[in-house]
Amino acid sequence: MAHPRLLILSLGGTITMVPSESGGIAPTLGAEELVASVPALAKVADIEAHSPFRLPSPSISIENIVEVAGTIERAFADGAAGAVVIQGTDTIEESAFLLDLLVGGDKPVVMTGAMRGAQAPGADGPANLLSAASLAVSEEARGLGTLVVMNYDIHAARFVQKSHTTLPSAFQSPLVGPLGVVAEGRPRLYTRVSRLPVWPVADGAPPPIPLIKIAMGYEGRLLRALPDLGYPGLVVEGMGAGHVPADVAPILGEVAQRIPVALASRSMTGPVFTNTYGYPGGEIDLIQRGLVPTGYLSGLKARLLLGLCLRKGATADAARRAFAPYQ
Ligand code: ASP
Repeated sequence: MAHPRLLILSLGGTITMVPSESGGIAPTLGAEELVASVPALAKVADIEAHSPFRLPSPSISIENIVEVAGTIERAFADGAAGAVVIQGTDTIEESAFLLDLLVGGDKPVVMTGAMRGAQAPGADGPANLLSAASLAVSEEARGLGTLVVMNYDIHAARFVQKSHTTLPSAFQSPLVGPLGVVAEGRPRLYTRVSRLPVWPVADGAPPPIPLIKIAMGYEGRLLRALPDLGYPGLVVEGMGAGHVPADVAPILGEVAQRIPVALASRSMTGPVFTNTYGYPGGEIDLIQRGLVPTGYLSGLKARLLLGLCLRKGATADAARRAFAPYQ
């Protein structure tokens, strides 16, 4: 029986890393070698494997991921049933959300990686790759956008976060939990998410948007400098439900007169508030000064959405519309 066609793209990461002359592990293996190391994949799909990059994920750029989105769209148009993207786990929550925003249609895009190197005892890469492939060709995963599968857990791109530096169970969706698991080699989705607006790949890569975490005693000099450095937008991670020191609020208000400023939370999870706290620097004050609340999106994910929105020189109103589905 013919298997579904599956595109596997490897961008690098610990899953591809083996000891190198540097004294530590470094990206080495390509997609073909990863696929060859998991013979059971042959029973899941007819695989086309490519290695567009061999990078540690801190060095993957937004442009790289936009390129990957274009490759996936072309493969889908050409008949591939799904796509697996392998990359380092440090930035997988960002890449996954960007692909979720960029790749349209119902076909699954599944990201995975590994917390342990390819030659480490108990390497988790092979099991993760097999889980990702099973998920990417499954009917259940259709219509869910980009998913991340790690340690058998299936996460939606908009919620997933790396929450530990080393455990194979590092990936969590603290707001809602995983959507399901891969068990006995079969994906089981216990809940579903709806698709959110998709942004055209053809409009190119978003500009870099600074992300500033507000801390106790912060005085905001850096914030004031940002528009003159040429940044077209800014995301601040406020305290709690979206708060900053009273003295920082007018500075943010001035910046928001010049470029769109999105307000996320530095808390691990939960929505930014819009109408509860009435003190200077509280969310009501900041929103009145023109800041745009990011809803439940983390700062890391919010800066990607704001960036896509700003590709065409958008206003704060356009940013407000972009974040509306995430409130
Ligand atoms: N530092 C590695 C990377 O992100 C970590 C990993 O892949 O798990 O490339």
